[in-house]
Amino acid sequence: MSELLSSKPSLLGLTLEQLTAVFQEMGEPGFRAKQVMEWVFKRRVLGFDQMTNLGAALRAKLAERFTLRTMTYSTVTGSEDTTRKYLFKLHDGRYVETVLIPANPALYGGASDRLTLCVSSQVGCAYDCKFCASGLAGFTRNLTAGEIVEQIVQVEALARDRIDNLVFMGMGEPMANYTNVTTAIEILNAPWGVGIGARHMTLSTSGVAPNIRKLADFPLQVRLAISLHGATDEVREKIMPVNRKYPLAELFDALAEWHRKRKQHLTFEYILIESVNDGLDQARVLAKRAKPLQAKVNLIPYNTVEGLPWKRPSEAQQDAFQAVLLNAGVTATLRREKGHDIAAACGQLRLKQETEEGIIDSMIPAKRITIGGGGD
Ligand code: SAH
Repeated sequence: MSELLSSKPSLLGLTLEQLTAVFQEMGEPGFRAKQVMEWVFKRRVLGFDQMTNLGAALRAKLAERFTLRTMTYSTVTGSEDTTRKYLFKLHDGRYVETVLIPANPALYGGASDRLTLCVSSQVGCAYDCKFCASGLAGFTRNLTAGEIVEQIVQVEALARDRIDNLVFMGMGEPMANYTNVTTAIEILNAPWGVGIGARHMTLSTSGVAPNIRKLADFPLQVRLAISLHGATDEVREKIMPVNRKYPLAELFDALAEWHRKRKQHLTFEYILIESVNDGLDQARVLAKRAKPLQAKVNLIPYNTVEGLPWKRPSEAQQDAFQAVLLNAGVTATLRREKGHDIAAACGQLRLKQETEEGIIDSMIPAKRITIGGGGD
């Protein structure tokens, strides 16, 4: 069994302002908060006793109320120079996956030699997109801001490297966990925190229109990606139930507001699924929708998910779809997926089931290396 971790609030999930308020309430001077953040995020200490510029009594008080790590690292799939999928066990026994992608092809604002981390925002997902593995077992719970931040901090320690780009494209719908996700972004961005530039963070959403509007007023200049996957309501609502709640007209109203307020380029993610949404009629409508927003389209040949019937179209069809967009003057890339073979690619992240025998991953990866605990 892995060591049971504390369910106390994590210091990794507090903003400087929140921690300052905690110290005030304890009758401690405000500058202590900065000192503690330094230990937490710059020195990355694992114990309160290492915070040597604080008195022993204060260290004990902090240890009583807070924790520094809430999840244990369980396995990694992949290898040193390819996409690596990390599995973490949360304090309540749930699992969450985080994917490290070396050399991202500059799609989300980073240089190509940079490290990108794909983080999860929820355990499971309630959105039930028909093509996606993450929602297969339904929704369990939101991740806390601390659990989101801890994914980055833990992977940086495990990979012995710094993360340059973050994408909220792991398990879950980040817009359905808005407060925790934006708090995590603040901590990840802050100079007293992890220090990742806001423009190096991309939030991906299935189209929760009201929260897109809300994010348009969020002060940090994070990027926005929309999982579109259908250019008409008719096609989109077949595969994305969210489209019934927020149809395309409403979604695009929110996107227009985003575009007006942020003057930032949007990305549309569009999975190509054979005979579902890969018709050239969809490509033509998609081009019309993308153009006024100056949105870039990222075409993703569907990654197969065990138990789901969908297939990727032929390369000829993929190319033809892209050509329609390019001819209409829309920037469109055909993404070369990484991590496909280890079930770490988009939409392949799913909950692990725990049984008496241990963890069962229903998608057995091509190569699995286990470091450390070996699962449970
Ligand atoms: N819920 C958010 C964040 C998840 S991002 C969102 O929908 O954007 C994961 C991305 O992978 C989304 O664009 C999703 O639509 C896509 N995806 C899901 N299943 C996939 C699959 N089987 N193959 C390729 N991409 C997939």
